Amino acid sequence: MNETDAALARAHANALTWFDTLPERAVPARAPVAEVTAALGTDLPDGPTPAAGVVDLLATACEPGLVAMGSPRFFGFVIGGAHPAALGADWLASAWDQNSFLRQVTPAHSAVEDVTRGWLLDLLGLPAEAAVGFVTGATMSNFTCLAAARDAVLRRAGWDVGTAGLTGSPRVRVLVGRERHDTVDLALRYLGLGTPEVVDADDQGRIDVTALEAALADAVGGPVVVVLQAGNVHSGAFDPFAEAVAVAHRAGAWVHVDGAFGLFAAASPATRDRVRGYEDADSWTTDAHKTLNVPYDCGIAIVRDRAALRSAMSMAGDYLITDEGGDQFETVPESSRRARALPVWAVLRALGRDGVADLVERFCALAAQFRDGVAEIPGAEVLNDVEFTQVCVAFGSDELTQAVVRALLEDGTAWMSGSRWHDRAVVRIAVSNWSTTAEDVRRSLDALRRAAAATAG
Ligand SMILES: *Cc1c(COP(=O)(O)O)cnc(C)c1O
Repeated sequence: MNETDAALARAHANALTWFDTLPERAVPARAPVAEVTAALGTDLPDGPTPAAGVVDLLATACEPGLVAMGSPRFFGFVIGGAHPAALGADWLASAWDQNSFLRQVTPAHSAVEDVTRGWLLDLLGLPAEAAVGFVTGATMSNFTCLAAARDAVLRRAGWDVGTAGLTGSPRVRVLVGRERHDTVDLALRYLGLGTPEVVDADDQGRIDVTALEAALADAVGGPVVVVLQAGNVHSGAFDPFAEAVAVAHRAGAWVHVDGAFGLFAAASPATRDRVRGYEDADSWTTDAHKTLNVPYDCGIAIVRDRAALRSAMSMAGDYLITDEGGDQFETVPESSRRARALPVWAVLRALGRDGVADLVERFCALAAQFRDGVAEIPGAEVLNDVEFTQVCVAFGSDELTQAVVRALLEDGTAWMSGSRWHDRAVVRIAVSNWSTTAEDVRRSLDALRRAAAATAG
């Protein structure tokens, strides 16, 4: 066996061991950082170690410190699993190691990216002419889309950011809903746009269109960007797109939609009404590593105006073999980049149109099962209208809720995140793993009931 064969064989064997334990292992990690560090060893060896041995050492040292994020009972943050087809394709992305930034240099990946782009726009009901960039996550997608937005609204105001920079430019107003994701603010900071103006939201976190209209009253003609949201991380709620986009466009704003996990509501006839009117926006963010269950890291940036994205992201270089049809590096902030479209293509090809719809509907049904089950736990209260994949639960006081989260993690059957929503400590449940079943939800509800009983007693 040559060294590559041996290393891949050990990687495969260790991965299979991991997947064997995944359904039943405790979800939290057993070992803290220090223990894994000690097992890895901190001295850089002077001499070589065979690749297969290195893979085994890594697997053995890390195993106790791994959180079972791919467990069917992991409901923390918003973390998708890894669908088998996507995982297999992701391994090939590493094996083939194509630097996928130029269309003509990597024809195979360019073809896969083209097909995937078409499928995504079709499934999501977005304009067929839109540009699609495959980035690391929703944060970078928000950055990419908002870079195109910033440059476009300033260009309309007679200012070319690409040559003149931001210093001395007209002020770009950015309006966001009170409950936008924090990474929107981060992306705006990267872009030199500062802190956004906050528009009020309703009890589920949906932007208040009347307040948005009032805030935009004196904006007509000036450079303005409005950021809306598909899928609030606490409530799962969607902004009222049809109304909000119309109001924003009347003021001449660029409208961006952050739908890191919620954009895929558009892919199911059962949930499509949640995003009604969102297709009239100018750019959209989603993650493939959340609802679509592609391994990390994979985000998607969609911009209606190809030229706007291209002018924000493209570069010139004598060594670039560019293609008239456009190159991948013109859709993303990076130059060198892994073949990120491969796992997205694979999961879409494996599930098909109906399979993606089923996935979304299953997540919603399991979230509803959580809502109904939590209602029967003494002292528990569901705080949100469960209209998508998120359930927010509180127990009496903040102290009690935090204690229930600790007891639940100690129990190990399931993982749910502690968070704060509307000034209350909450247990946040996000359903987003392809392998989660009704039985997993039942077992997780039992664990939550045990944690609540132990805490109350
Ligand atoms: C997760 C999330 C993000 C950030 O996504 P990353 O993939 O972690 O960069 C942004 N917006 C929303 C609504 C999210 O749920």
